[in-house]
Amino acid sequence: MKVLLTGGAGFIGSHTCVELIESGHEVAIVDNFSNSKPEVLNRIARITGKDPVFFEADVTDKSEMRYIFDNNNFDAVIHFAGFKAVGESVAKPLMYYRNNLDSTITLIEVMQEYGVNNVVFSSSATVYGESNKPPYNENMPTSTCTNPYGTTKLISEQIFTDATVANKDLSVVLLRYFNPIGANPSGLIGEDPAGIPNNLFPYVAKVAGGKLEKLGIFGNDYPTPDGTGIRDYIHVVDLAKGHVKALEYAVAHKGVEAINLGSGKGHSVFEVVQTFMKVNDVAVPYEIKPRRAGDLAESYANAEKAERLLGWKAELSLEDMCRDMWRWQTQNPNGYDTKNQ
Ligand code: UDP
Repeated sequence: MKVLLTGGAGFIGSHTCVELIESGHEVAIVDNFSNSKPEVLNRIARITGKDPVFFEADVTDKSEMRYIFDNNNFDAVIHFAGFKAVGESVAKPLMYYRNNLDSTITLIEVMQEYGVNNVVFSSSATVYGESNKPPYNENMPTSTCTNPYGTTKLISEQIFTDATVANKDLSVVLLRYFNPIGANPSGLIGEDPAGIPNNLFPYVAKVAGGKLEKLGIFGNDYPTPDGTGIRDYIHVVDLAKGHVKALEYAVAHKGVEAINLGSGKGHSVFEVVQTFMKVNDVAVPYEIKPRRAGDLAESYANAEKAERLLGWKAELSLEDMCRDMWRWQTQNPNGYDTKNQ
């Protein structure tokens, strides 16, 4: 199948690109490098032996999107493009609403103009909000999120759902990600956050690599067995394989389905830090800090629907995630910035 990946140069997009190529699909990427680097394209080619077709463009720009659809016959789209930093979204809500919603609407409009009916959307477990209790399942009511980033995911899900009600030919899979981490086992592609990382795993890897002094653990007084926050970490290669399955599902069905991509297991911050140190034989100095505003005590998936509908489940362990994350960090201490390694 011929697939367009919006935001395909990013962390999850690049890993999905590799898995799609390795499953025999043809891939084109559209990305404006707002939070990614051109070097990732060389790395994808080194892993797969194939150069994905690439368009440098903004998904909110309808004329550029029309140009891309004019020159390709896509069977399906995976829509990754979007801003994703929770804290930044609180400081710049309009920028987040403008970019993340405009890109979703523009993409659906252009897909409809060109008769492309299958789409997989990068959503997030954040749509379960604060009132549901984990394990989260897809039948739970979604609710307003604590930050504009999360709200853009919730509204985008609604936009896709409404578009599907109005257009019976459309087929949409909304993938609700839990906490994607790790890297391709080649060590050639991985997460390369701009500036100081906000998320736990990239921060741990930078502390272990000596780029940052100490990890701050945000709270050890949660009502969890060791007092630290619990999350459902999922290896990005498992997640990427879930996209291949979701795409095949979308093409074979009509209508809209929300599906969790998580492991179904929760790990605490202490467990993550200890596993990282043990598996990689490296020190991760840390200190306990106050809770971070907006953090939940625990979040993990009920992962049964993905197994039932997609025949997919997470295979890789927390140890694998720690090992692959560390390989990526040691081989690329400055991410894709190859000049300053
Ligand atoms: N966390 C932490 N220190 C950090 C970053 C995160 O203790 O520097 C904790 C955070 O409070 C949460 C877990 O690690 O319990 C995962 O946080 P992350 O930001 O990676 O994911 P999210 O909270 O968005 O699920």
